[in-house]
Amino acid sequence: MTAYHIFTPDDALRFADQHSELFGDHSKLSAVEFGDGNLNLVFRVSNDKGTSLIVKQALPYARCVGESWPLSTDRARIEAEVLQQHGRFCPQHTVEVLHFEPALSAILMEDLKQYQILRSELVKGKTFAHLASQMATYLAQTLFYSSDFVLSGPVKKAAVARFINPELCLITEDLFFTDPYCNHERNTIHALILPRARQLWQDEALQAEVAALKADFLSKPQALLHGDVHSGSIFINADNCKVIDAEFGFYGPIGFDVGSLLGNLLLNYVACPGLFAPAQAEQQQAYLLEQIRELWQQFASQFSQLMASETQDSALQNSRYQQHFLQQVLADSLGYAGCELIRRTVGLAHVADLEKITDAKKRAEAELRAIELGRALIMQRATLAQMDAVLTLVQQVTV
Ligand code: ADP
Ligand code: MG
Repeated sequence: MTAYHIFTPDDALRFADQHSELFGDHSKLSAVEFGDGNLNLVFRVSNDKGTSLIVKQALPYARCVGESWPLSTDRARIEAEVLQQHGRFCPQHTVEVLHFEPALSAILMEDLKQYQILRSELVKGKTFAHLASQMATYLAQTLFYSSDFVLSGPVKKAAVARFINPELCLITEDLFFTDPYCNHERNTIHALILPRARQLWQDEALQAEVAALKADFLSKPQALLHGDVHSGSIFINADNCKVIDAEFGFYGPIGFDVGSLLGNLLLNYVACPGLFAPAQAEQQQAYLLEQIRELWQQFASQFSQLMASETQDSALQNSRYQQHFLQQVLADSLGYAGCELIRRTVGLAHVADLEKITDAKKRAEAELRAIELGRALIMQRATLAQMDAVLTLVQQVTV
């Protein structure tokens, strides 16, 4: 077996050629490193006929910081195995993994060059009617089939153990639930909203609710999460969408994945007036509200149907319990969506939706909307029993 070494483009090329038949015997291969991500190397290997594959390799440190931030390369195994599992449950919306080499922490996968990254498209004002329904299917299938509704106790526990992901989870634990609520050196806060950020550091009522959400993140292994369903992890085109980049995967609360996506749609929602002229902003916001409504409706309906027809454990077949479970998933999702809105505004990692607003005053207004909406969702998540009430709240808080 080959020992770990950091790939050059030539290494990536050989790796792809060795583990795929796709290129054919006499094709001329070339490779480039083009990843724009924070943590890993991403290469595109192509032949002269236009066939191409992606090689993603985990470095023993975080790429964006360098060797001073060591990070286990086991995250590549987690990423490959989460994508393989999710690919079994929902192949149409999961990027296909063709090969994984543990010693090299390298993944060979399909090239989604016919797709675009959702966040970039939303920032440009593009809309996709199929986004919500397809992502609802992805979330319902992957989360249900990895849960206690299907797996027996012992099998589930083995799965939880297999996907223990302490280092990457710690990043989420810090960046989502701790840093935004104190004056942490990792935070990036634009000057115009600093007074509002300071209030977050004193907001004990909010901090108590965020603590509850963090405690659940730490101790509620409901399903095998993707762990990072933001709009930069979703590739989309006119027909389909596919999810990539599952290195933050672990067994956690279902609402975390659902809420991450909701939070990202809402980040774009609050940014619209800063990104577009009024008429287009209004149109895009109407589109986003419709997608959010549909995302929850379809997720809830598919997950309910799966619970009703596929639950293996006879005690969990109780329909009252199942209704209660889904209600709790909604509350959790709203809470985690709120955390995403806040941490993307005052935390370490910002998003293009807000950063692409060129006018500093408009950007600050959008950021303040993100904070108010995030806070309202976190505080009111237990009483917002219907998505209609959530959509009304979104419109009220963000005028
Ligand atoms: P990281 O984990 O380092 O953030 P990502 O998995 O997000 O890396 O990938 C970084 C970038 O590489 C993506 O934004 C995308 O541009 C490109 N990329 C990754 N996987 C694929 C793929 N399967 N097909 C096409 N491009 C990809
Ligand atoms: Mg990543």
